[in-house]
Amino acid sequence: LIKRVGFIGLGNMGSRMANNLIKAGLNVAVHDINLSAMKMFSDKGISVKGTPMEVAEISDVVITMLPSSNHVLDVYTGPKGLLNGGNRVRPWLYIDSSTIDPQTTRKLASAVSNCALIEKKDSWDTPVMLDAPVSGGVPAAENGTLTFMVGGPEEAYKAAGSLFSSMGKNTIYCGSAGTGSAAKICNNLAMAVSMLGVSEAFVLGQSLGITASTLTKIFNSSSARCWSSDTYNPVPGVMDGVPSSRNYDGGFASTLMAKDLNLASASAKEIALECPLTSNAKDIFTKLCDEGHGTKDFSCVFRHFYSGKDE
Ligand code: NAD
Repeated sequence: LIKRVGFIGLGNMGSRMANNLIKAGLNVAVHDINLSAMKMFSDKGISVKGTPMEVAEISDVVITMLPSSNHVLDVYTGPKGLLNGGNRVRPWLYIDSSTIDPQTTRKLASAVSNCALIEKKDSWDTPVMLDAPVSGGVPAAENGTLTFMVGGPEEAYKAAGSLFSSMGKNTIYCGSAGTGSAAKICNNLAMAVSMLGVSEAFVLGQSLGITASTLTKIFNSSSARCWSSDTYNPVPGVMDGVPSSRNYDGGFASTLMAKDLNLASASAKEIALECPLTSNAKDIFTKLCDEGHGTKDFSCVFRHFYSGKDE
């Protein structure tokens, strides 16, 4: 049974995920380099720790939700990192839910399994790591309806089931270490390309004299229907409650999309696979960020890349 959970990275996603673990009755200790993020938890009587190492010392399981690969490497292998217990560690399970590249995930999974456990746990002789990135965004993190895509040993995946169901609605086992990260970057690559395709088609359609709302009706009952057309339409005024209807505020930041496309592109390069749409999408979202739209939702590509309007 999992009782003591350490949670590191209390940002937009992590703070909400940690709250859901607390609501589920787990004994949670948290850490973040941002002191005001920690204060939100200490004010509620939750144990806060100054370093990842201190979190590891009192946890059976540690979950990380950090921006990118370098932050995760630092938290695991840095001087006050999770694995800095003289190679003998307490947590038997490490779950990283950050979106990072599969290569870093595999490197960390092997570093984790090279440690020894202070107290043996069931069938585990060494600690184990799962990569478990999420889909769903901030509202799903808040409501506990995230989708987890999980890579690593299957027994560990099964043992962590109650944790995933406290924070999410769907959990999909993907295979060995790194396959959860691979699933996530592939999902976001397909999402970026479909958003670009829909945006491009709407710009062309409007220029040819068809209104966005008519084209949306057609797409959504035809073969171009997709999440970017029927759930997250990038054209202002077509749908309520999406970032395009509120000046592209909130949602999934363009910087995060550019980061994920960089991960996909680097992974493809490493195995010498040509992915021209990934490269194009990466260049477009990087340009969008360079032009100052990094904090806006990624669907702002419709306004800024295609129509070139600045607001
Ligand atoms: P965020 O920037 O809001 O939060 C990251 C947190 O990590 C911050 O509180 C920061 O202070 C902390 N942090 C950074 N370095 C640290 C360190 N060395 N030690 C301890 N804490 C540290 O990011 P987020 O939106 O919560 O996203 C987290 C991850 O989830 C990213 O990899 C992102 O791509 C992924 N993700 C985000 C969304 C989304 O909609 N925001 C959706 C799915 C996946």
